[in-house]
Amino acid sequence: MYQTMVVGGGAAGMMAAIAAAELGERVVLLEGNDRLGRKILISGNGRCNLTNKNADVLKHYHCSFPTFVKPALEAFTMRDTLKFFARMGIQIKEEKRGRLFPQSDQAQAIVDVFEERLSLLGVDVCKGEKIKKLTCGETFGAASTSGEEWSAKRAILASGGMSLNKLGADRSGIDLAVDAGHTCTNLYPGLVALESSDPYIPRMQGSKIWAEVRAVVTTRRTLVDIDDLLFTKYGISGFTVLNLSAQLVPLLEKGAIEVNVNLLPGKTAEQVSEILKERWQQNPHRTLGFSFTGLLSNKIVPPLLQKLGFEAKQKVGKINKNQRWKLAQGLVGLPIVVTGPRSFDFAEVTIGGIEVREIDPYSMQSYIVPGLYLVGEMLAVHGDLGGFNFQWAWSSGHLAGACGIS
Ligand SMILES: Cc1cc2nc3c(=O)[nH]c(=O)nc-3n(C[C@H](O)[C@H](O)[C@H](O)COP(=O)(O)OP(=O)(O)OC[C@H]3O[C@@H](n4cnc5c(N)ncnc54)[C@H](O)[C@@H]3O)c2cc1C
Repeated sequence: MYQTMVVGGGAAGMMAAIAAAELGERVVLLEGNDRLGRKILISGNGRCNLTNKNADVLKHYHCSFPTFVKPALEAFTMRDTLKFFARMGIQIKEEKRGRLFPQSDQAQAIVDVFEERLSLLGVDVCKGEKIKKLTCGETFGAASTSGEEWSAKRAILASGGMSLNKLGADRSGIDLAVDAGHTCTNLYPGLVALESSDPYIPRMQGSKIWAEVRAVVTTRRTLVDIDDLLFTKYGISGFTVLNLSAQLVPLLEKGAIEVNVNLLPGKTAEQVSEILKERWQQNPHRTLGFSFTGLLSNKIVPPLLQKLGFEAKQKVGKINKNQRWKLAQGLVGLPIVVTGPRSFDFAEVTIGGIEVREIDPYSMQSYIVPGLYLVGEMLAVHGDLGGFNFQWAWSSGHLAGACGIS
């Protein structure tokens, strides 16, 4: 019998197995895929944005009970993460928005050092073993679809979320927790592009711009992000949208939401009106469409003007002050109605999961089944875009592993 069994060899599960083995426990790690850490390998476009300089700041994590993540993030901080990886030879570099990557730009390096550490610590790693049944009691038993069985004094579930079915992600791990008595919240795709039926958007398809995206979700709550915005044939994407989706997607269940895009971030309508005035005074012979040359991408200008009710061919010299003001307002607050997220096949995370009130945040142990621990993305916790989801996986996994058999 093992002291600890870990179900799921992703970010949280590998970290949990290592932390338990570092205590001297006999550990088995059960992974459904034929490789460990498949999501790590494709993360950050194959580069793995493994944490963020601001990963200890709670506002970047979302769940029904906001301080739930605090003990885990304090027990294994962003600095602990960096030390952990540094000990294994991973040099870190910083990119925009505090995102931290391996210097080599290779996610494979992260999986390689995990595999090496698991091996050095003598963790039994069983790949290609999808767990279909977990029995809970004084001890725990796991049975896989191949007919193999394992038993241990405690079990750590780290089976991740629903995104990317092609990587083997499904509800099976969440269902093991539900069968054990836990509750699963509604599940939504998160850090995902948003769909829109706005007919002008497909005409801007492929254009990536620097923009401010803003969504007024209640009278007291406005969500804002400034970064890349990508127009696609089905709606909008890019860093801004993926990041805002972490909070917008659950709200979209109640209906479509209008987001407003400032195409000249940091500028007010008054300032934009002045910019247009100057540009038009310098070149009064230009058409309205051509007058944006060098200011906005010419791929978005024609549909944009049409959407805002302007004729691209009219001469700027003929546009009056009121029309200029209306255009300036449109440029700083272009309305786009989004109707919902793209599917789990395109999402980086799952929003929702096992209800966090059923878990002790100081150990990640279940309040419902003593000896059962739940970590990582399978819990109803998700982070913003930029390395926060891995930090949650490392921190929660490490906390559960390091608790040891009590
Ligand atoms: C395309 C993409 C890019 C991403 N990029 C980043 C990024 O750069 N930075 C960041 O912070 N986050 C990123 N994420 C999110 C991040 O990958 C996840 O939040 C993180 O991997 C969650 O870790 P986890 O261990 O909880 O789950 P996972 O990493 O999903 O691991 C769960 C493991 O459990 C296994 N499993 C599931 N069910 C069973 C079962 N029944 N039996 C046995 N094994 C099972 C799965 O095969 C999987 O290996 C990205 C996600 C995607 C999809």
